[in-house]
Amino acid sequence: MHDDKYSILRRYFGYDSFRQGQEKLIDAILAGRDCLGIMPTGGGKSLCYQVPALLLDGLTIVVTPLISLMNDQVAALRENGVAAACISSALSSAEYAETLRGLGEGRYKLLYIAPERLETASFKNTLARLDVPLIAVDEAHCVSQWGPDFRPSYLKIGPAIAAMRCRPTVAAFTATATDIVRGDIIDMLGLRDPMQLVTGFDRPNLYFEVRSPANKNQELLQLLAERRDRSGIVYCGTRATVDKVCELLRRRGFNAVRYHAGLSDDERAGAQEAFQYDKADIMVATNAFGMGIDKSNVGYVIHYNMPKSIDAYYQEAGRAGRDGSDADCILLYSSSDAALAMHLLNNSENGPSEADLDRLSYMRGYCSTAVCLRGYILGYFGQEHPERCGNCGNCNGDNKMLDITIAAQQAMSCIQRIKKRLGYNVGRKTVVDTLLGASTPKVLEHGLTELSTFGLMSHLDAAQVNAVLDALLDNGLAQMNEYRAIVLTQKAAGVLYHGERVQMLRRVYAERSQRRRRAAAKPVFRPSARSGVDGVDSAALFERLRRVRAEIAREAAVPAYVVFSNSTLQEMAELVPVTWDELLSVPGVGEKKAERYGRQFLEEIARFIRL
Ligand code: ADP
Ligand code: ZN
Repeated sequence: MHDDKYSILRRYFGYDSFRQGQEKLIDAILAGRDCLGIMPTGGGKSLCYQVPALLLDGLTIVVTPLISLMNDQVAALRENGVAAACISSALSSAEYAETLRGLGEGRYKLLYIAPERLETASFKNTLARLDVPLIAVDEAHCVSQWGPDFRPSYLKIGPAIAAMRCRPTVAAFTATATDIVRGDIIDMLGLRDPMQLVTGFDRPNLYFEVRSPANKNQELLQLLAERRDRSGIVYCGTRATVDKVCELLRRRGFNAVRYHAGLSDDERAGAQEAFQYDKADIMVATNAFGMGIDKSNVGYVIHYNMPKSIDAYYQEAGRAGRDGSDADCILLYSSSDAALAMHLLNNSENGPSEADLDRLSYMRGYCSTAVCLRGYILGYFGQEHPERCGNCGNCNGDNKMLDITIAAQQAMSCIQRIKKRLGYNVGRKTVVDTLLGASTPKVLEHGLTELSTFGLMSHLDAAQVNAVLDALLDNGLAQMNEYRAIVLTQKAAGVLYHGERVQMLRRVYAERSQRRRRAAAKPVFRPSARSGVDGVDSAALFERLRRVRAEIAREAAVPAYVVFSNSTLQEMAELVPVTWDELLSVPGVGEKKAERYGRQFLEEIARFIRL
């Protein structure tokens, strides 16, 4: 039989249809046209070059930034029956020699390398003798100094391709969509009239929510306790916070590991491996963790602090639910996060650029908006979207915008009067104490009890006054200066003197049960010959199948999701296949995997339904 992209998709990857955009990119690559594919994290970039690699004669080279993950990527492909290899400094010399021999014999369809490899003399020699129809560049934004993860070694890729005797087709992939990064990728890699394709950025299985708890630690512990059966990532803004949060979680009996740039290579590698192989449930990390991580069963991503842009947020949050099953992306926001983000920008090499400030203000907008969160994100990426998605905290919760104009005016006038009296601005605590009418030593020392605004909000409590100050910050009416004092901005005049109104979001969190269940669109498959399938307890079966999977993974020394993803196991538990053909119709079960493990799963199912 002559292979085509559909039979390859079915046989090696076990899927019936391509996702949005995949097919166009694959067709372009097969027609020999350079491509630039822009898809969100988890959107399915890898298939776009893996499927062509299996159809083209010769060897496809994949350039990827993270050596530590190559092995897992290659292991996952081999599980699918794809002849793949990698060359990295992690190989022993025997393994290296064996790989070179395999390359010489044309044994592989895909070879993963780090960009540095392209420069070494020995690899150049090898390369000159190989037939390479396609080079795929993963995380291509690393070539741009304007992107978030610039890597100088990526600059070597373009010249290396140009130096090849016979120029291969070049396909670049990234999740970063800004024009300047896109332009850089095309220039630096020397793409020729590339087909550019931006797929939809929506990830419908991700649930988005923002919470502003009074106590983040408590909230986090609660969220994690509700998710004990899943694994996930907790992102923190600084290394110190990572240490603190990880320590807290361990003390409370969670199986957490940590990752940030201040740790030894060993601890980092150990943490990553423990998480990847499901030995640790929770990864607490700075944004140093995650690029290129291909762990498909991440059930939630919780942000303990607000990131500096929607781009960064969506990339990090997008690491949840890559296998397509429901996953949660929850951001714990407090307005001190905005101050922290601002502080980090101020301390960056050249200070914050206009664009940085712009990105930060969009991010803050996300944290204080009452509109659909998914819509807000998609709008940021320039994508059309319905007004409400029905699967985010703002669509499902009971958020209300409160008019707080009078309270805002009172607070602003207090800030103004303190400044007038002292000649400088003071920190937020002193403002709050003054408004509450608390005669603290600082308030007394500055004579603030004499102000007409002293005690103006004594009918409220500290949390409520703080919420008003947060609203001033969120609405751009005030900001924190470099001495951590709160100062009014020009915008304040509009509210103080020109009748502009101020609103504040009051969040009421959605109950879990209110959340939309994505039960629709599951293939129906209820053979009448087997009555009782409807009576099968799929949750119990799922647990049993998970145990089979764990056993197989341990024997093969691969992460469990490499055997089958969670969503594949869930489908299996619901579809209850008993024959070979039925098994093959489960999404995610390809021929190779069915051959390899199918029997063990079918046997377990048979045992189960006979119970
Ligand atoms: P990216 O590299 O874009 O972040 P991946 O290539 O890792 O995303 O794909 C994410 C997940 O989606 C993987 O688990 C992959 O198996 C799955 N996937 C990719 N394409 C399809 C498809 N056509 N149908 C079903 N699942 C797919
Ligand atoms: Zn929504």
